[in-house]
Amino acid sequence: MLSELNIINLFNKRTRNRSLLRGIGDDAAVFGHPNDSLKWVVTQDLMSEGTHFRLDWITPQDLAYKIIAVNLSDLAAMGAHPQFLLLSLGIPTKIPDIFLKKFSRAFHKICREQKVALIGGDTCESAHDLWLQVTAIGQAKKTQIAYRTGAKAGDPIYVTGSLGASALGLYCLEYGIKTPLIKRHHRPPVLTEFAHALAQRGFASSMTDVSDGLLLDLETLCGDKLTACIEADKVPIDLQTRHTAKKHALDPLSFALGGGEDYELIFTVRKSQNSLFHTWAKSFPHITHIGHMIPSKDSNKLIVLDTHQHPLSLNHLSKGYIARR
Ligand code: ADP
Ligand code: MG
Repeated sequence: MLSELNIINLFNKRTRNRSLLRGIGDDAAVFGHPNDSLKWVVTQDLMSEGTHFRLDWITPQDLAYKIIAVNLSDLAAMGAHPQFLLLSLGIPTKIPDIFLKKFSRAFHKICREQKVALIGGDTCESAHDLWLQVTAIGQAKKTQIAYRTGAKAGDPIYVTGSLGASALGLYCLEYGIKTPLIKRHHRPPVLTEFAHALAQRGFASSMTDVSDGLLLDLETLCGDKLTACIEADKVPIDLQTRHTAKKHALDPLSFALGGGEDYELIFTVRKSQNSLFHTWAKSFPHITHIGHMIPSKDSNKLIVLDTHQHPLSLNHLSKGYIARR
C-alpha cells in the first residue's frame, strides 16, 4: 500500500491561481485577493474511529475538544488566528443520541472558549464507524505567515512545551495502565496566542506542529538543502512522562522523538534575530532550544546527537514505538 506521503503526492499537482499563496504541502492553505494584506488560512483534519480514537477510551467531550484542537494547531503552525469551523459527521446507528448531545454541547463550549464560530458542515450515516471532520478557517497578515519552508542554515530550532506525553498516554490506554498522561493524549494544547505573537514579531523562519512526531515533523522544515541537527538531551520531556516510562521499562526519548500528537510547535528562528527572540521568549518558560539547521551533506534530513555529541542511531529508535505507529 502507498505511504501517506505518496498518496498525498498523487493529489499534489501545481495549481495556478493568482489568489493562492500556498496550496498542498504546508499545515494549511493560504489564499486571498492579491490586493488584500489579510489572507485566509484553511486546514482540515479527519478523525476516524479505530484509527484515531476508540469510543471506549474517549468521552464525547474529549472527542469534541480534540477534533477542534488538532485543527486549530495547524492554524497556529501558520501563525493564523482562527475564525470559523465547519463540522462533518459520519454517524453509525450504534451511536446513542446522548453521545451526540454531549458531543455537541462540548463542541459549542470549546468554540466559545477558542473564539471560533461553527458555520456549517455535513451529516451522514456511516456503515460501521464514527468519523468526524473539521475544517478550520483563520486569518493572518500576509507578511506574518510562518510557512514550513523558510529555514536557513544556522537557524536555531526551538520547541514549545514537552514531548512524548501524548504517545505515552496512548501506550498506557492500549495496555490498560491508568495515568494522567491519557489526558495529555485527549487534550493537547492549543497554542494560538503564542504562535500569533511569534509570527507577529517575524521571529520564525519556519514553523510546523508536532502531529506525526518530532522527527517526522522536523523533516518537513528541512526542504532539500537542510539537515536538522538536534541534541537528544535537550529534547524537553516532563517529569511525569519520564517517571511513567521508567516505571514500565520504556525509553521516554523514543516517545518524545517518534511519538506523535503532542501538538506542540517546532520552529526555527532567523539567526539574525536570535538574541532579540531570546529576550522576548523569557516570558514564555516553555520554549526549549533543541538544535539548529545545517547544510545537508547527503539525503539525511536528521541528526540526533547523544550527550557525547555522537549521532544516535535512529534505526534503533524506530524499532521501538515509532515502528508501531
Ligand atoms: P498535518 O499533519 O499538518 O495535518 P498532513 O501531513 O495531514 O498535514 O498533510 C500534508 C499536506 O497535504 C497538507 O497541506 C494537506 O492539506 C495536504 N493533504 C493531505 N491529504 C490530502 C488530500 N487527500 N488531498 C489534497 N491534499 C491533501
Ligand atoms: Mg500540522
